[in-house]
Amino acid sequence: MTTKTPPATASSPLSKAPSRPVVALLSTHLDMDFMRGPLQKKLPEAEIRKWPDEDVSDADFAVCWRPPHGVMAGMPRLRLLHSIAAGVDNILADPELPDLPVCRVVDENHARGMAEYVLWSVLYFHRRFDSVLRRQAEGVWAPPRQRAAGEVTVGIMGWGNLGRSVGGALRAFGYNVRGWARTPREVPDIEFFAGVSEREAFLRGTDILICLLPLTDETNGILNAGLFASLPEGAALVNIGRGEQLNEADLLAALDAGHLRGAVLDVFAQEPLPPESPLWAHPRVVVTPHIASTADPRTIADQISTNIRRILAGEALVNEVDRRRGY
Ligand code: NDP
Repeated sequence: MTTKTPPATASSPLSKAPSRPVVALLSTHLDMDFMRGPLQKKLPEAEIRKWPDEDVSDADFAVCWRPPHGVMAGMPRLRLLHSIAAGVDNILADPELPDLPVCRVVDENHARGMAEYVLWSVLYFHRRFDSVLRRQAEGVWAPPRQRAAGEVTVGIMGWGNLGRSVGGALRAFGYNVRGWARTPREVPDIEFFAGVSEREAFLRGTDILICLLPLTDETNGILNAGLFASLPEGAALVNIGRGEQLNEADLLAALDAGHLRGAVLDVFAQEPLPPESPLWAHPRVVVTPHIASTADPRTIADQISTNIRRILAGEALVNEVDRRRGY
């Protein structure tokens, strides 16, 4: 069923398009209907269609979350591929992806949500709620030694829109914060490390490791036995980047050997996490169902419609990713 739309207004760049622009909602994992209303409100002149229920072959713009591989190659009118999320790995993974601009969502509230999730995870390990909850299950009263936030070093891998927000929130709570990214930079109050050559030094002093990297060829499988061995004994892991970055078998081995004391995991190579995964019941693992942070659909629609209007007006796009770099 196609959506009824009000007539175009003379002032809108969309009204200058040769025909009514068609926006395709593409996902193999999500019912993208939740984006229909917010997008239609922002783009009253556009026709919004959802794959696979509706024909999207003549769409001008693709709005994606884990889009089906090969479908966009058969959409000759496409001009822009837009993620509904901060990450674009799920779009770039399409081997037949048309050579078009790819944009993502960058939002302050999204970053604040991520900071909340990480703050909870860091407090969970720092204040030893992990061990307190295990002892409660055994009916044991055993107060663990408490440390000040300033005695704990949190290392953040990935210092982008989300990593920066997380780092600021942790600093405000008094934690020692260190960051690691591809390129070096000076950040007040943050010890900064860059590139493969400084990774070892970054890890060696990290008590709680936060992974907020985009998924690329370089970061795929980065959370592995070698990396865990570089962390001090008793370190903890929080993975909120992408599941493919984590070697689950290596994590389980590091936990069972007592080298790592715990992990909070929000993302998994296979989502939903299969019922037979040993991570579900592991006493040192917290599993959350990819909820660390999402942008509000109205914000997503706002950013997508801005880029659609910009492309129609011949203006530069915002939040365009570097396809060669992968983020
Ligand atoms: P950005 O693109 O803004 O930042 C990415 C950061 O990662 C940059 O600092 C970049 O370095 C660094 N980086 C990339 N590749 C490497 C590498 N090979 N080595 C070292 N550093 C590297 O991304 P965001 O902060 O917006 O988002 C990060 C990721 O978080 C997303 O791609 C997504 O996978 C994940 N995410 C997870 C969510 C969840 O709910 N769990 C929700 C939203 C996002 P440099 O600055 O030098 O370029």
